[in-house]
Amino acid sequence: MNRVFQSKLALLALLGGTFAPYALADGETAPARDPKQPVDAAYTEKIHKYTTQPYFTSPLVDYLPASKTVPTPQTVLGDISGAPGILPYAEDVYKYMRLLEKATPRVKVFSIGKTEEGREMIAVAVSSEENIKNLEENRARLAKLADPRTIKLGDAEADKLVAQAVPIYYITGTIHSPETGAPTALMELAYRLAVDESPYIKEIRDGTITLITPVVEVDGRDRMVDIYKWHLAHPKQFFPWLVYWGKYVAHDNNRDAMGVTLKLTENVLNTYVNWKAQVLHDLHESVPYLYDNTIGDEPYNAWIDPILADEWQIIGWNNVSAMTKFGMPGVFAHGDFDTWSPGYLMFMAAMHNGISRLYETFGNGGADTEERALQPEEYARTWYRQNPPLPKVLWSQRDNNNYEETGLLTSLHFFNENKRMFLKNFYLKAKRSIMKPTEEGPAAYVLPSDDPRTGLQSELLQALQRQAVEISRAKSAFTVTLPAKKSKESAKGKEKDQKAEKAETPAPTTREFHAGSYIIRMDQPYSRIADALLDHQYWSPDDPQKTPYDDTGWTFGELFHVQVTRVTDTKVLDVPMDRVTELRAPGGVKGDGAVFAINNNAEPALATLRYKLKDAAIDAAEEPFESGGKKFNRGSFLVRNVSGGDLDRTASELGVQITALSIAPSVKTHPVRAARIAFVHTWLSTQTEGWWRLALDKLGIPYDYMSTQAVAKIPDLNAKYDVILFPPAGGWGGSVNAIVNGVPTAWGNPLPWANTPETPNLVGKNDSTDDMRPGLGWEGVGRLREFVQKGGVLLTATDTSSLALALGFADGISAQNGNKMKIIGSVVGTRLVDDSSPIAYGYDEKGAAYCDNGPIFSLSSIAGQRGRRRLGPEMHARPTGRGSSDDPDFTVGRVGVEAPEEPKFETWESPPVMDEQKRNGFRVIPPSLRPRVIFRYADSKDLLISGLVEGGDEIAQHPAVVDAPSGKGHVVLFSINPVYRGETWGTYSMVLNTILNFDNLNAGRKDATEAK
Ligand SMILES: [Zn+2]
Repeated sequence: MNRVFQSKLALLALLGGTFAPYALADGETAPARDPKQPVDAAYTEKIHKYTTQPYFTSPLVDYLPASKTVPTPQTVLGDISGAPGILPYAEDVYKYMRLLEKATPRVKVFSIGKTEEGREMIAVAVSSEENIKNLEENRARLAKLADPRTIKLGDAEADKLVAQAVPIYYITGTIHSPETGAPTALMELAYRLAVDESPYIKEIRDGTITLITPVVEVDGRDRMVDIYKWHLAHPKQFFPWLVYWGKYVAHDNNRDAMGVTLKLTENVLNTYVNWKAQVLHDLHESVPYLYDNTIGDEPYNAWIDPILADEWQIIGWNNVSAMTKFGMPGVFAHGDFDTWSPGYLMFMAAMHNGISRLYETFGNGGADTEERALQPEEYARTWYRQNPPLPKVLWSQRDNNNYEETGLLTSLHFFNENKRMFLKNFYLKAKRSIMKPTEEGPAAYVLPSDDPRTGLQSELLQALQRQAVEISRAKSAFTVTLPAKKSKESAKGKEKDQKAEKAETPAPTTREFHAGSYIIRMDQPYSRIADALLDHQYWSPDDPQKTPYDDTGWTFGELFHVQVTRVTDTKVLDVPMDRVTELRAPGGVKGDGAVFAINNNAEPALATLRYKLKDAAIDAAEEPFESGGKKFNRGSFLVRNVSGGDLDRTASELGVQITALSIAPSVKTHPVRAARIAFVHTWLSTQTEGWWRLALDKLGIPYDYMSTQAVAKIPDLNAKYDVILFPPAGGWGGSVNAIVNGVPTAWGNPLPWANTPETPNLVGKNDSTDDMRPGLGWEGVGRLREFVQKGGVLLTATDTSSLALALGFADGISAQNGNKMKIIGSVVGTRLVDDSSPIAYGYDEKGAAYCDNGPIFSLSSIAGQRGRRRLGPEMHARPTGRGSSDDPDFTVGRVGVEAPEEPKFETWESPPVMDEQKRNGFRVIPPSLRPRVIFRYADSKDLLISGLVEGGDEIAQHPAVVDAPSGKGHVVLFSINPVYRGETWGTYSMVLNTILNFDNLNAGRKDATEAK
């Protein structure tokens, strides 16, 4: 063995390899080429030419084996993988993969679906001819391991399958479009796996099926290649930043693994689940030179199987070890990526009994070779990075490809060597998922059939279904025992009031559910993801991890405003039930009559219905009413001028339940109109608003999509629009300077976002401009302000709310950032303040919303004055003096005067106007013009529902959604983000209610006509 290896090394040296020999363990296969197989000399020479330092490559990738029949990537690229100046479109990558498929029986290409813009996504299987021939047979074996119920949880049978099955290692590339290296690396990787006869590669080929999706974000890839081509054509100029990736979102496309609302997530998840793959390994580029963040940092996601945590360590450290031995600098694991959120694409494997992996390699955002300088924290040696990257290097796309391929090949080899263990683990994790009810619980989650929000319930269940979770429905009523609930105080163990403790000995309770209730059994292979999504999250403020990498809370039942009960009582599993395959909220018209009533439970489908039934007259009841023995909430719809048949059809389709009434109820109403909507985005970032577009498109709510530049050019906005939505700008775009002024135009060149010969894919179905740099401009500010003054409704959220307030669009409200507050992507409690506002129609007194550090709104009754922000409990302590703390102080030589009672008001309210302020009070805002708080944040003790809430006192009780009158119009300001990542369905209707009631937002306003 050793002798053979040495002769290989000699050959390597001849080829230009500069690797120190290292000892191999017994039976270990040398990572070296097969000396008998000829090398593609021209290709190999270029590998060396484009690699900027000899230590930026490895004996696995510093040559390319020659083949007489199989084309190399050069056939399509015109140069080798990683060559400077070469960035292929997805189409070219696919073309090459299909050439491989034609040339060798070791490669097979599968279409796995389309993107939002209609581009194809593929998966390429590479393995031995035999494995490729027997894919289906093998899939059947893996399917049994994936669902141990099929073999009655029989370990002996599982062992047989483990011994026979060929595992599947799924690699995904370039989900993040500016991270450009993966496609060429994966083209070459596929070639190597198909062609190379070295024992090291042959073992992988014979033992494992490598499945490759070379481009995940296909729409974004084509845009990125366009921009790179534009850059090559204009080498001396600055080039546009990639403002759109996919149709909807940019970087967040890797945060969709909970909601599964993007096509790319759905397609990769289906591929992963249908192939029964063991690993999902996603390639990214941001950290030098190869950061295997698989092991990551704490806290770990609480719902993963501990077996997976061990696998992360095993596989991650092997990777570092193998590449360290090659002498490649800057390869490390751990780092600062916490493994808490299950929102990442690769984490779908973690939540579906596989192994999630992620590489950050070092990319130049294109294929230029460039000098790159690192920050001290990037090149510092740390305990987990003993051979750190260099402070300054010349770096090429080929270097990046060398790292990606070397990492993947060593991973594949290690995985293949240990595949029986990994396959057995795959089975064990599935088995343990099935045993969840008896091992750790819960037994099930139940969604009651009498939840008034059947539409939202169905949306939530469909999200679970996209996750391949099995859903059942109870055939009869049933009762379960719920565990005793500890009170908050006794749970905290602080300030124990002994009497109170004795009084409260909480006892278990029971709950009855009606027939038709949904049961999500936890004795199923994918119970883990259902549990993770439906359970609550707690991120301790004392956690040593001070910088959460992403959201800290996501509880779906709370965010969808749907009732979900966690049931530990295993008797629930004995309830007679049917598996549900098709999920649809019940809808249609019931009863007889010409007036049709729709109860309002803040379900988004009501807005869809309004827009669909263009000619129907729809009114909203301003008070609750009862009719035909049925109770209707405030805001319920009364529909006229529509045929019962049309209405029934639409309502069935949308899952809206309608009651026909013989007589119209006598209740005050106002019309609900299909507002004309302008939707404004910046050219700085479309990341966060994309989720809003996705939601509106899904609901069928039409809008005109325009940039800040475009809205500034419309002379009479009120003539065209009723509502302007300005969703969060996100990223680097939230400040007044950024939004109004944009990017400086005093220097540099225009940055077009337009289709040109070099950029045929840039615009797609989104927006375009000749120059992305100018912002809204002061004229645009004037236009928006005029729109509101003349009666329009401007709706803003988070950073655009702060913007609107900074620009003085509304009086009596200010926005501040927290001091010590840390609410990082958490689910927080909200309270309904003004239930008569149309914005609140259908909502309950208690609710939940997504919050990411505010902003913190405060009200003032004085124009131009910043609202007072309360920091914790008010201190009304008396001054130092005589008597006890309750006694009044006294003044010697004077008769005591009783101090006037301080006026009391709540944190979310406009403070009462003081006598002193009333003196020549021209700044006092009349009550009818003061902001109207619709929702507020819950009290401090109830603020945290899921995630991290630290210093929550700063925002507790402060307004969360405010309707601020301004001129004849309104600015409706959100501190929460009501539309986010397809996860916040419960708060969508706050936006939709604003849209539908745009011309009646003052309905129910108590002080509307009050004297000044
Ligand atoms: Zn990335």
